[in-house]
Amino acid sequence: MQYYSTNKQASPANLEEVVIKSLAGDKGLYMPERIPVIDRSVIAAMKDKSFQEIADLVAQAFFGEDMEPQALVEIVSETLSFETPVVHVNDNIYSLELFHGPTLAFKDVGARFMARVLSYFILRRGLNREVNVLVATSGDTGGAVANGFLGVPGINVFVLYPKGKVSPIQECQFTTLGKNITALEIDGTFDDCQALVKAAFVDDTLNEYMQLTSANSINVARFLPQSFYYFNAYAQLGRAGKADDLIVCVPSGNFGNITAGLFAFKMGLPVKHFIAANNRNDVFFEYLRTGTYNPHPSVETYANAMDVGNPSNFARILDLFGNSHEQIASLISGYRYTNEQIAATMRNACNLHQYLLDPHGACGYQALADYGLKPAETGLFLETAHPAKFKETVDRILHSDIEIPAKLQEFMKGKKKSIALGKGFEGFRNFLMDF
Ligand SMILES: *Cc1c(COP(=O)(O)O)cnc(C)c1O
Repeated sequence: MQYYSTNKQASPANLEEVVIKSLAGDKGLYMPERIPVIDRSVIAAMKDKSFQEIADLVAQAFFGEDMEPQALVEIVSETLSFETPVVHVNDNIYSLELFHGPTLAFKDVGARFMARVLSYFILRRGLNREVNVLVATSGDTGGAVANGFLGVPGINVFVLYPKGKVSPIQECQFTTLGKNITALEIDGTFDDCQALVKAAFVDDTLNEYMQLTSANSINVARFLPQSFYYFNAYAQLGRAGKADDLIVCVPSGNFGNITAGLFAFKMGLPVKHFIAANNRNDVFFEYLRTGTYNPHPSVETYANAMDVGNPSNFARILDLFGNSHEQIASLISGYRYTNEQIAATMRNACNLHQYLLDPHGACGYQALADYGLKPAETGLFLETAHPAKFKETVDRILHSDIEIPAKLQEFMKGKKKSIALGKGFEGFRNFLMDF
């Protein structure tokens, strides 16, 4: 399969190049030249299959031409060592719980898959050159990427995070691992971290000296495998007789997760309508309403993994629908919520339905409630993180003291190790060249 750039200037590339480079030379995002369609009958039969079997079918359709079948099956199997259960919340609203992986957030799926696919191509090339993954994090991405890539041969990971601005629970998930994971504590903001990563990608000397790549959802191997769990959710709802007239709601920041859902839709997954739920960072909501895309600096909210002012995957959504605002707005609705609304939703779900939402899932749940499901429709929102990942916020809102799962406690026992750097590019560059 060939991949083209959304900016249409760079030449097409194969999967190996796309996974190793992340971003096209013209700064566009890579898109597959065609989207494989899975037969209706095969999709209907998924309700009798395991998550692994379902994911194999989807992975094969996309990556089958470019990877050996057995290797791909093994990568899928190693990626999905946990379940993504669909849980009933109330009326016809269901939660797709994506937080049962190692760092308790949905990003585990994409990070684990990408790490293995990248390693597959590096080893196939003969490991003469390591690949260095740079990732800037405001909290959640760093943990998922570091754990996904931990111990994977041929790859070094550098996690850049803003000093004093990530929660202790988040910080320990990427500072205690060692091995091929290096945590860089930057004396600056998240935007400074991101600026350093961006500057590194365009620095010629650095790129000649070492192979750099990104593990952000701009990478095809990171966002696309997220389509696995949309199919798996459909299968689970099918078993419960609830898969018809399905409305899928995705709490969105960089829009990688919902883009994977839109790919699943284009592959034939019967979804009637999508909803993108946002916090106060509402560029997409405004785009749906006005047809104008107007990125702006992000604002901080309770749902901080969605504090994105210029979602990178917007370019993919435009491309998927031929830049047609009309098509996009007829398939996807948008909702946006303030911190106060997020808090009220969390309290209601907890008190009325005994369901513990995290601040991101709360946006998803509330958007389905506000959409007004018809009796025959089923609403499914993606619960993107375990509430304990945002313990301080959740406890403050619910006056609770929620339990930290054993998996998270393990991280907190480890010894924190990070390297302090300033926010200037020279220092960062020298550090990488001397590593
Ligand atoms: C990353 C993240 C999101 C946003 O996902 P995108 O793919 O960037 O839209 C939502 N919730 C949580 C908990 C996240 O970590």
